[in-house]
Amino acid sequence: MDINPIFITKPFLPPLDELMPYLEQIWENKIVTNNGPLHNELELKLCDYLGIQNISLFANGTVALVTALKALEITGEVITTPYSFVATSHSLLWNGIKPVFVDIQPKSLNIDPEKIEEAITPQTSAILAVHCYGHPCDVDKIESIAKKHNLKVIYDAAHAFGVECHCGSLLNHGDISILSLHATKVFNTFEGGAVVCNNPETKIIIDQLKNFGITDETIVNLTGINGKMSEFNSALGLLQLKYIDQVIHKRKEIDNAYRTGLADVKGIHCLGDTGELISNYAYFPILVNPEYSLSRDELYENMKEHGVHLRRYFYPLISEFPMYRGLASSLLDNLPVATQKASQVLCLPIYPDLPLEKVNEICNLIKNQ
Ligand SMILES: *Cc1c(COP(=O)(O)O)cnc(C)c1O
Repeated sequence: MDINPIFITKPFLPPLDELMPYLEQIWENKIVTNNGPLHNELELKLCDYLGIQNISLFANGTVALVTALKALEITGEVITTPYSFVATSHSLLWNGIKPVFVDIQPKSLNIDPEKIEEAITPQTSAILAVHCYGHPCDVDKIESIAKKHNLKVIYDAAHAFGVECHCGSLLNHGDISILSLHATKVFNTFEGGAVVCNNPETKIIIDQLKNFGITDETIVNLTGINGKMSEFNSALGLLQLKYIDQVIHKRKEIDNAYRTGLADVKGIHCLGDTGELISNYAYFPILVNPEYSLSRDELYENMKEHGVHLRRYFYPLISEFPMYRGLASSLLDNLPVATQKASQVLCLPIYPDLPLEKVNEICNLIKNQ
């Protein structure tokens, strides 16, 4: 491996000269934020591309999630997964909601619907699930549990841009889904996020909430926040959309190359085959099993010495962080599958510019430890 280190991701950037006309337009009309023309165009084009009814663009995915919970007036307790990025649970604490962690399924690493019902109490108002790595949750089972117990469903779909399941866009499930458009995600506007909902009335509330709760010039009816996406980020989004199919195709080639290269490495299990019809290849997670020659952390360190920086997504579990550790649902006994998978997982580099030769070198390094 050469001296240039390889990281888990590198943002895709569209050609700079194609950004210039957008900047000229912004400079010309002096509209830089607050539902500008580029913001509105991006919302329309994303609805079309993703096959969804309504989208509200945000400054980032976290503020989108915090706002989504507020819009649905979620209170009390929310059932969620410990196996995610910390923003998932932080959005609950920011709304004064108590997270209740439920274990995950061993195959998808998403929340286990079989364990949800036993965690429901009279205070439970919603389920906040994550389509981890863009792999779909068991949306049908989650929906039927939610219906039975009159709970709202929010999907943290930060990883799931463009993923389709048996009934079209995965984002159409639940009351609300949120996207992150951060630099590390499949579709990025540097920083950015979005709320997706089927109900047009929910979109109206979301749009007011992301603009301080302002209804019109003299009326403020909701305790909103500033979550608006600027025209600059919207311009980037419009350009990214032009390249997104190419970007996902490149990711697919890398995904295939890893699967071939690692197919007969004893003790390395590639995650996948989780039921989606169209994937976005957002991550390439592997599990390091006891049959492998090294522990997960030894492999992680050795690869780093070779200049390949892998990530232990998601380790530690959210429930291990100090603001969650005291919860009864954070006890290891409650989360055996999540605890085990978090100790085995490694995400390998995957991004459109990663040459296939590098992928092969990474596979050979893993094979020859
Ligand atoms: C990236 C991410 C977020 C946060 O999104 P930002 O746009 O960075 O605020 C939330 N949840 C998950 C699962 C993520 O991976």
